[in-house]
This record gives sequence, structure tokens and C-alpha cells, in this order.
Amino acid sequence: MSGRGPAGGSDHEAAMGLALAQARLAPEHGDVPVGAVVVGPEGTVLGAGRNTRERDGDPTAHAEVLALRAAAARVGSWRLSGATLVVTLEPCTMCAGALVLARVDRLVYGAVDDKAGAVGSLWDVVRDRRLNHRPEVISGVRAAECATLLADFFTARRRPPTG
Ligand SMILES: [Zn+2]
Repeated sequence: MSGRGPAGGSDHEAAMGLALAQARLAPEHGDVPVGAVVVGPEGTVLGAGRNTRERDGDPTAHAEVLALRAAAARVGSWRLSGATLVVTLEPCTMCAGALVLARVDRLVYGAVDDKAGAVGSLWDVVRDRRLNHRPEVISGVRAAECATLLADFFTARRRPPTG
């Protein structure tokens, strides 16, 4: 992963693969499969996270927040300028706010969240013109895989237990 900007599409797809791998771990502890990674300007993965809201009983334990925290701990600063946050699902208002506060340069997300999305669906928190810092947004990266993972999780949940 070395390219930057819109031309680095394959880099974003590779990073999304890492976010998807995180997401796939979440159902093991009863959490909705959402995963995220923060990639530094040189293409290094600085932090990763997955939704652990149920496991930890923590309403703020979303994948993006945990990935941003891990990246900030590694970098030694809350300021993640130059970094890209890659997440399987469109961020909610909390996570959209967090990534703006972390000053990431770019947000890459997969599936759209019609019910709670805050980067284009219900709100557009990160591109509000009143903000000084507005990250670039690239959406729809490996969106089908990201959405299928979620759909499969909810389908399995609705299915009555057997045996
Ligand atoms: Zn969130």
C-alpha cells in the first residue's frame, strides 16, 4: 500500500480487506460485524478495531473509535493528519465526529447505512462547510462484501435456534 489519493483505488480495496477481516471477528462475541483500520501516510496500518459494543457493554465501542484510539496511541498524538480511516460501514454521528476531531485526511467506507449514516445518508457531518477540517470521502469500496456480511449476520440472528 503506497499510493495516495483517488488514484490509489487498489490500496483502498486492500485496506478494506483488513477492515473486513476485523468485522468478521465481531460476531464471535455477539457484535454486529463492522471493522475499521487507520492507515498512515506511508501506507502503514496504524490501528485496527471492530465493533465490541455488546462484548464490552460500551455504547462508544464502535470500530472507528477503537481504530482511531489505537492509531493515536501508536503515533503518540491525537492528531492523525495524513491518515486514512477505512471502515466497512458508513460512520454514525459519533464516529464521523471522532474522525473529524482526529484530523484524518481521508475516510474510505464500504456499505451505506440508510438508518444511521452520518456521511451522506442521514447527515453529512464530515463535509459540513462550517467545519475548518473536511476529510476527503471515498464511499462504496467493496460495498457488496461489507453489506453481505451485515445482512448474513442479521439473517442468522432472526433464524430460530435449532437443536
Ligand atoms: Zn459509530
